[in-house]
Amino acid sequence: MARTLIKNGTVISPTGLSPADVLIDGETIAALGAHGFFDAAEQGADTVIDAAGKYVIPGGIDVHTHMELPFGGTFASDTFETGSRAAAWGGVTTIVDMAVQRTGESVQEGLADWHRKADGECAIDYAFHQIIGGVDDESLKAMRYLTEHEGVTSFKLFMAYPGVFYSDDGQILRAMQTAAECGAMIMMHAENGIAIDVLIAQALARGETDPRYHAATRPSPLEAEATHRAIVLSHVAGNVPLYIVHMSAGDALEEVAAARHDGRNVFAETCPQYLWLTLEETLQRPGFEGAKWVCSTPLRSPHDHRNHQADLWRGLRTNELAVVSTDHCPFCMKDQKELGLGDFSKIPNGIGGVEHRMELLYQGVATGQLTLERWVETCCTTPARMFGMYPKKGVIAPGADADVVIWDPDRQTTIGIDAKHHMQMDYSAYEGFVVDGKVDTVLSRGTVLIADDAYVGRKGHGRFVERGLSQYLV
Ligand SMILES: [Zn+2]
Repeated sequence: MARTLIKNGTVISPTGLSPADVLIDGETIAALGAHGFFDAAEQGADTVIDAAGKYVIPGGIDVHTHMELPFGGTFASDTFETGSRAAAWGGVTTIVDMAVQRTGESVQEGLADWHRKADGECAIDYAFHQIIGGVDDESLKAMRYLTEHEGVTSFKLFMAYPGVFYSDDGQILRAMQTAAECGAMIMMHAENGIAIDVLIAQALARGETDPRYHAATRPSPLEAEATHRAIVLSHVAGNVPLYIVHMSAGDALEEVAAARHDGRNVFAETCPQYLWLTLEETLQRPGFEGAKWVCSTPLRSPHDHRNHQADLWRGLRTNELAVVSTDHCPFCMKDQKELGLGDFSKIPNGIGGVEHRMELLYQGVATGQLTLERWVETCCTTPARMFGMYPKKGVIAPGADADVVIWDPDRQTTIGIDAKHHMQMDYSAYEGFVVDGKVDTVLSRGTVLIADDAYVGRKGHGRFVERGLSQYLV
């Protein structure tokens, strides 16, 4: 079995920084020691990596991706092969993707379909959440089965997209009751989709067809209202663990904060796009260009009734927001976003970003908005604990999988098409961004995937991770 020694680095965990050498035996972290404690020859290390001046962190975990998602008459443009490879480039060693069941389809077949798409294709390890798009007796039974037998312990419901993924309050309550019984987590897309559809129809009738109206028809109170309603339903269902996905609004965050103050198992994630991009700089660009940034929940303005971005950064610091994911759901402009030319409501919803989460959040460290510890906690450790993968994932400790990223704080990363990003997209939501810090080396279960600015991994290295129940409950 190959043995690797990572020397002279600074290991970062949610509780602090320590100068430590990391010894890897095969796929697993064997031991940590003070700098110089291990002798490479004595330990039989065939690979020695010098991490002097660099950070050594657990591999990133992105718990919200949509590879090959069918949406709006097309498919998200990254396959598991291309998307997981782009993730590796960005220091991500595990993704949790959203398997899909739509109304009238079988949950088990939806999950089997996702296994078929991912099996043998991934550069990094992967797990699944299950989207329940049609709550009925069959799908409720399936939720229990997946939790107990398939290592799929979290279920995503939608309060938006009537006629596609939408569940009404009664369906949501039933799914929550089932999850409460078997210990599973409910993930919620919290937007009032019924009201949003009225606003969309009214906007289109007024001839407001440009991408900018995507945001105007999804105002933040409809995110806050849905978040509140989901929290109330989760309480009625017996304090079932509830995780609000892709939070973009300060008023929605207040609902989560209040529930947490009451001691409820209510959590939320946000995504880099909500922390760094503004409505004015994106969706409101002239013509159709704004389509690049059509995603739901929408990007918001700092000049809205409150500064959502500032609220989100503060929420990240105070743990009102526990996790940063990407909601990676890329669509090309050509032939995909273009489906919504002349009608913004037909633009496929999604932004690609799986490659850039670690560096975009490190930029929060560089600008003083986040600590190094909190960066690792929100991007690596809490995702593992939240979704039942700890301590195999999310920590640099003996016995953990040797998913390790060596991070160079002295280099910079340029993001975009011009910088030849690795996602299968014909544009970048972050074109031209130059941020501090760069991925230096990435190891997945002891195997080097990225080194010397080159990808040396292979498709099929990644394995399916069977997850347990959440380890993050109050
Ligand atoms: Zn999503």
